[in-house]
Order: sequence, then C-alpha cells, then structure tokens
Amino acid sequence: MSEINTWIFQGNPQFFDVDTYIKKHKYIWWSLRQEHFLDRIELDDEVFLWRSDGNNRGTGGILAKTRVVSLPAERINDETTQNYWYTDEWKNPYLAVKLEVLQVRWEDGFISRLALLEHPVLKRLLILRQRTQTNYLLLPEHAIELQNLWNSSNSNMQNELDSNDMENLIDGEVTETEQEQVIKSRIGQSAFKKALLAIEKKCNLCGVVDERFLIASHIKPWSQSNNQERLDVNNGLLLCPNHDSLFDKGYISFDDGGTILISDSLDVATKVFLNINETMKIDLKVEQQKYMKWHRDNLFKIMNNTTINKLAIE
Ligand SMILES: [Zn+2]
Repeated sequence: MSEINTWIFQGNPQFFDVDTYIKKHKYIWWSLRQEHFLDRIELDDEVFLWRSDGNNRGTGGILAKTRVVSLPAERINDETTQNYWYTDEWKNPYLAVKLEVLQVRWEDGFISRLALLEHPVLKRLLILRQRTQTNYLLLPEHAIELQNLWNSSNSNMQNELDSNDMENLIDGEVTETEQEQVIKSRIGQSAFKKALLAIEKKCNLCGVVDERFLIASHIKPWSQSNNQERLDVNNGLLLCPNHDSLFDKGYISFDDGGTILISDSLDVATKVFLNINETMKIDLKVEQQKYMKWHRDNLFKIMNNTTINKLAIE
C-alpha cells in the first residue's frame, strides 16, 4: 500500500481554461474546496487532474498526473492565472494547492469518464457519482487501480516529447510571451507558419505584412485537434497580434462565407481600437469551413462567455 495519498482534482472548462493552463505551466494552482481535506493533503501526494465535460458530453476524464508541492494556503490570483478564468471568480481569494505537472495526455492515454464507467473497480469512483466536487481523496484500492490504468495506457512519442519540453517551462522564470513561443515552436509553429506564409502573405483582416508580427493561429485549437488537424494548413489562419488575440479568445469568428462575426460583448471603442468592424470578410476556403464551424460552435462568444453550444444545451 502506498504511503502517499492519491487524489483527483476536478476543473470545469466552462469556467476555467483548464487545457491551456495545464499546457502552459509546469507549476499550477488548484482550489481546495472540500475544506475537510485541509489536514489530509501532504507534500508529494499524487493528484490526477480531471477535466469535466463542461458542455461537451463524453469529453470528461483524467488528462494529467501531478504532484503536490505546497500545502494548502490562501491565494489571490495573479495576472497570469486570472486570465484563465471565464468568470469573475478569479477576484476572490481562495484556498489553493500548488501542483507540479508531471505528465499530460491529450489523446493517447487520456482516461475518459466513459472508460472508467466500464472499469470493474474504478466504476465506483466517487467522482462518477458525485460530480460536483473539486477534490476527491481516493480509497487505497482505487488509487492502485488508477495508477495501473494510467501507467499501462500507451503514451506515444508525442506525449513523451511534450513532457520533456515542459521541463523547460519553469513558471515565473520565463515570461508569458516566451512560454507562448516555446509552446508554439513545440507544436511545429515554424513549419506550420511557413506553410501558411506560402499561401498568405499578410494578416487576413488587415494590412500587417511584417512576418515577425504574423501569427499562424489554429482555427480549431491545437489542444482540441488530432495530430492530422494540428498539421493541416487548412486549419490555419494568419493574423496580426490584435486579430489573433480576438480570434483565439473567441471574440470574433467567421461564417461559411468568410464574413466576420463579432461578439456582442465588445463595445464600440474596443472595436475601433482593435480594428474590427462588421464589414470585414476573409477568403475562407471550403477546406477551412469545417474548422471554422468548430470555432464558431465552440469558441465564439456571441455574448460575454456564451458560446453557441452553451446556448443549444441550456
Ligand atoms: Zn490584423
């Protein structure tokens, strides 16, 4: 029997950008909401991170293994972590535990909720029955089964590379921009950008042509794409920093004809200064439409924090 505790901590992608947070940082903070666990958490405890399915049914499950590196303490979000919240909740001080991200599995080795429901032992995990908690302490027999399942799940080469590269992302020592560059180079940004530059020479929405400021954005985000989609040049859109930021965060999207869609949450001044208006249009190729539909349905914020999917479900 192991001496350390094994936990599952849950995050909801409807409120918090779980994927990007885990992807970008080797050290992360997680809420301790079940305060009766305050005295149970020990340094070096093992924590599996569970991303709930939010509004995408069937996507929930365990995507990372981490280790506790600080005991629970009250924390206030800093500029880095507040940006991952979709709600105002970041403003509140909260009880948090610092975790070191050890392994992340986006596809191969990801343990889905559906798979756990079929597992002879793990189907009894509390998180499958009481889904709304943040922190779950596993029974020893569940911990052993989950460790075995995680260790036996195939992690392909890509995952190994990812975790190696993550070693270089030391929180706080590199700036956000540098981290972004590391991430983007890790995913073959340069090759992807080169391929895009061969087709497009400037920002799709404005006149920025200086290659140093052009960003090869994935229309369907890298974290949500399979390997083929990650490298498919049709899943790319060349944009300047302002337009990339708006698109990346879902404040603009495009219809099948390429006409811009602008979130109602942007005021007139923001639109003027970030250089967007309702008459803008891009040349959207047929091959790009499926990716843009995904962006529109899942990322585009019609109103503040409201996507089409969310509207459809509620
Ligand atoms: Zn632009």
